Amino acid sequence: MINCRLSIYRKPGSSNKCWMMSISKRWNGLKRRNLDRIARRFCAARVENRAEHPLVSVVFDDIPRSAAVEGGHALATRGMHGTYFVSGGLEGGVGADGEAFFTRDDLLRLAEAGHEIGCHTFSHVSMPGLSRAEVMDELARNREYLASRLGEAPIHSFAYPYGDTCPRTKAMVRRHFPVARGVFHGINEGAVDIAQLATLAIETCAMRWDMFTAALDRAAATNAWVVLVTHDVRPRPSPWGTTPGDIARVLDEVQRRGIEVATMAKAHAAILGATPAQARLKQSAS
Ligand SMILES: [Zn+2]
Repeated sequence: MINCRLSIYRKPGSSNKCWMMSISKRWNGLKRRNLDRIARRFCAARVENRAEHPLVSVVFDDIPRSAAVEGGHALATRGMHGTYFVSGGLEGGVGADGEAFFTRDDLLRLAEAGHEIGCHTFSHVSMPGLSRAEVMDELARNREYLASRLGEAPIHSFAYPYGDTCPRTKAMVRRHFPVARGVFHGINEGAVDIAQLATLAIETCAMRWDMFTAALDRAAATNAWVVLVTHDVRPRPSPWGTTPGDIARVLDEVQRRGIEVATMAKAHAAILGATPAQARLKQSAS
């Protein structure tokens, strides 16, 4: 599995070399977080959330096969659609935890079932460390990959791998995608940064149900947009995944409050009081 969120820890009994690597990772992590914060603080693309009702988007990153099968099943049985973020370079591969990533057929089935297919970088590489040309290449390769699988339909939504971004990366992504999400914790209400949406992780190992249900209650009261993020959906999930039981409980909590579940493209359009096509036109004109 590839962690789209930051995870830094020291294993008990690890060697000094590992410890030094841990320090290095921690430093790099802090640097990445600071770049994220700078991008969020000073380079926001804010729009007023004009939705007339609360919205939830259910998002799966990287598409481990269980996200396509189990996650797709949980949504389909409730008449819901999600957003699946794809790195073309992961197709047919296997994650570090041994779970296979999506196949070409998985991707086609998800799209045919009405789920939104969103864009990651092709190699699932973190973007702030890349040159401008390398960022452009990653975006172009993934868009070409998606066009080769799904045709030339426009790709509306982007997710920063690992949630990493910086002012330059954010501006580049903004030129190509109407909406993008990071991994800052929160719900999107009031003036929403559509180039770095806040999210709530629904990872089983770190799930705080009291905080989750409180966030849904607040969203229901303020017509906020909540973006829920996970990866795999298995009985024994990775640290970034969710059990089938927990994803069912998440969706039931949303449904019980009468909150609409919409893909990121549709939810983005709803907060603008527009259709997805109109939202894309607004973005290209901005
Ligand atoms: Zn990812």
